[in-house]
Amino acid sequence: NRLRFQGKTAIVTGAGSGIGKATAIKLAKEGAKVALFDLIDDRTRSTEHQINEIYRGVSRSFDVDVSDPVRMEQAVKEAADHFGRIDIVFANAGINGTLAPVEEMTFEDWQRTLGINLNGTFLTVKHAVPYLKKQGGGSIIITSSINGNDRFSGFGMSAYSTTKAGQVAFAKMLALELAKFKIRVNVICPGAISTNIDSSSEVSEELEEIIIPVEYPEGSQPLADGPGQPENVADLVAFLASDESVHITGARIVIDGAESLL
Ligand code: NAD
Repeated sequence: NRLRFQGKTAIVTGAGSGIGKATAIKLAKEGAKVALFDLIDDRTRSTEHQINEIYRGVSRSFDVDVSDPVRMEQAVKEAADHFGRIDIVFANAGINGTLAPVEEMTFEDWQRTLGINLNGTFLTVKHAVPYLKKQGGGSIIITSSINGNDRFSGFGMSAYSTTKAGQVAFAKMLALELAKFKIRVNVICPGAISTNIDSSSEVSEELEEIIIPVEYPEGSQPLADGPGQPENVADLVAFLASDESVHITGARIVIDGAESLL
């Protein structure tokens, strides 16, 4: 009974927490070697220990700020040198960033959210593609959101939503560009998932006044009666990373327990 990812290597960004962490564990469990990219803190190290305790040395953490072009180029090379190849790229790291009315949002706030969510996605993919091409194929999965695509309900989330819509266009253009190299590119749009993402929000005072009195149903999902779990998303990413999805590219897949249909 061959494991789905035996002999494959994956880069997972944002692997220290939430969706990235659950996906790194899932891929390792099914035989992959995993390069864990995150801002190094105890959470990232704990993902590494958790995986290596069970699957002996198949993961390694790399301290990377995905928005740093110099470090990203280096880190992808370090991962490829360490594991010998790259087959799967999960560009997933992201922040909510500053949630504020547009006139309150500083240019720096705007740049920071775009820098991590959009430039980070670009840099992750850009530096990995040469390895995938060299090996004759691979699978890239990008984490977008229903926010910015299927729903526009988050107050003060103009920067975040812009990045999440931009990732979809990026993925689709790349699916076309890379098809002849047998590199597939798909984008997933989760609804609310129970992770640490809310700790990445900086909410402006003015916005708190707007939000707090409002009964805000974000996260209600008819299918799950609450938010989804990171493991639900990891199962979808594993499917898109595997040969079971060999004819799927340029797809945008919503995983939200019907949240966006409310
Ligand atoms: P999370 O906060 O639990 O995990 C995100 C990880 O990314 C963290 O470990 C964090 O340290 C890392 N990260 C942040 N900035 C980074 C940087 N500059 N460089 C490297 N790593 C960085 O959140 P999550 O919910 O697992 O988020 C993963 C992705 O899912 C994000 O792109 C987010 O936009 C998307 N998403 C989340 C939800 C949700 O409800 N949780 C819904 C839709 C989309």
